[in-house]
Amino acid sequence: MNWLRHHRVWYNQRLPKAEPIERDRKTKILDAGDGVACRLCGRGTKRYPHETLDSSKPDATTIEHKLPEAAGGTTEDWNLAISCWICNTALGNMFGKLIGKYQRDIYQVPRKELEDFLRFHWYPKPSVNPILWKELEGEIARMEEEGKSDSQSLSTITVAEESRDLANSMFSENSDRRKEVKA
Ligand SMILES: [Zn+2]
Repeated sequence: MNWLRHHRVWYNQRLPKAEPIERDRKTKILDAGDGVACRLCGRGTKRYPHETLDSSKPDATTIEHKLPEAAGGTTEDWNLAISCWICNTALGNMFGKLIGKYQRDIYQVPRKELEDFLRFHWYPKPSVNPILWKELEGEIARMEEEGKSDSQSLSTITVAEESRDLANSMFSENSDRRKEVKA
């Protein structure tokens, strides 16, 4: 499949976005993707079934559309690949920023800028586009930093809650009241 030709047909005819991947198929692809290397960073991804994915699971197995759905990418096998959560999200953020510069309208993005980005999205390698690769690394670093501060504030809250629980348990009256509130 020639992804660029596919994209151009989609773009010129203003075709609708592909339907999302059917649930059972998605589960199957993700299950089979456990341990598969991320197509961007090459690290082994890990499947977290039935869990919400966020920056606390940067290595989570995700399905990536090599040609983004918002640019005509389909859910056929040729367009799907396994990547880790943080790489997938970082690349998605970059695409969001690109169309964000043009009122979130893909048809307003200059063709060259759009196709340069899509080429990199299809082949995310430093040799394909060193500028976009740098941007991707920056985005990943920013997200990792954010993830760290998120988990820090989360642990701070946990400590605060634990000490409050301890304080409450010293006064049975308080702990009873707390149970009432919870119920
Ligand atoms: Zn990755």
